[in-house]
Amino acid sequence: MQTTDESPKYILEVKNLKKYFPIEKNIFGKPLRYLRAVDDVSFKLEKGKAIGVVGESGCGKTTLGRTILKLYESDGGQIFFNGEDITKISKGQMKKYRKDIQLIFQDPYSSLPPRMTVGNIISEAVKVHKIVPKDEVSNYIKDIMNKCGLQPQYYDRYPHEFSGGQRQRICIARALAVKPKLVICDEPVSALDVSIQAQIINLLKDLQAKMGLTYVFISHDLSVVKYITNDILVMYLGNVMELGETEEIFKNPMHPYTKALFSAVPVPNPDVKMQRIILKGDIPSPANPPKGCKFHTRCSECMNVCKFKEPVYYEAYPKHFVSCHLYNPEIMNNLEEYDKMYEQMEKEALEKQELEKNKRKKHEKKD
Ligand code: SF4
Repeated sequence: MQTTDESPKYILEVKNLKKYFPIEKNIFGKPLRYLRAVDDVSFKLEKGKAIGVVGESGCGKTTLGRTILKLYESDGGQIFFNGEDITKISKGQMKKYRKDIQLIFQDPYSSLPPRMTVGNIISEAVKVHKIVPKDEVSNYIKDIMNKCGLQPQYYDRYPHEFSGGQRQRICIARALAVKPKLVICDEPVSALDVSIQAQIINLLKDLQAKMGLTYVFISHDLSVVKYITNDILVMYLGNVMELGETEEIFKNPMHPYTKALFSAVPVPNPDVKMQRIILKGDIPSPANPPKGCKFHTRCSECMNVCKFKEPVYYEAYPKHFVSCHLYNPEIMNNLEEYDKMYEQMEKEALEKQELEKNKRKKHEKKD
């Protein structure tokens, strides 16, 4: 099994990860077109830290989480867990890691089996993975329930007897009972009331400190991400737009998309005037993304070069990565050249259109 050359200081390392879904096949079942849900995503996550994955709906953040968990097979790139390459391991080999990587779902209503008691739901995986001796399971589960703010007398109750917040606590207890090393939280509070959201986020933060957990925190709520994460990864149409330390990204957002997202975060200070950047239009279809920079159709700072040349993802400041031409000196120093290239391409495209139009006209006359 391949390992990274670096020490496993990073519990998770994702390198150029890709997940494509076929959306059109020929009669032999060969895919003709793909939806590129995750396209060349890379990041590293240190033990005991949390990374927030943010972006609008459809940006690929949930697919990224599920591909890391190997609920989806990746179509390229590598996933290293604790220094071991788990990208291509079999389902049997993956069993070894199942208890180490847990998922907390978005919807606490549908993610709990309705006919099982809370005790059975939480203890099921504990028994399978033999986390504690059989005679200690009950006490161990009650202890975990207690840590997650659930009374031990709830042990024999059923999920329908609980509120949304309590159900999410059950989901958290179930995930943590197997002593995971990495927890992927997929919008864990978005289905809950605002008052309950704060309780669950505080619980996750407390448990992280007490149990030394590492989180991949998927969310569209930037205030929550700011509170709980160390790093932020901003995604758009399957690509990473910006990556860096949370504090640095909030202080100095570089990518126009990040700036627009962050401009919507409320500031709890009446003296601070918010300058909201409204994004134009809807997010384009990931099945047919725009050429060049995928964000160019909505970017207020779009230049001609953005319409045909894909930006390079690079480190603009130490540990602060961005994918935008505005910060690439090679592009910015040669804008005139790129404008000429764009004009030439436009001219050629127009000529081609004209030719095709004339051809069609000729055919129509013949008919
Ligand atoms: S590369 Fe161009 S279109 Fe893309 S974000 Fe930067 S300025 Fe905007």
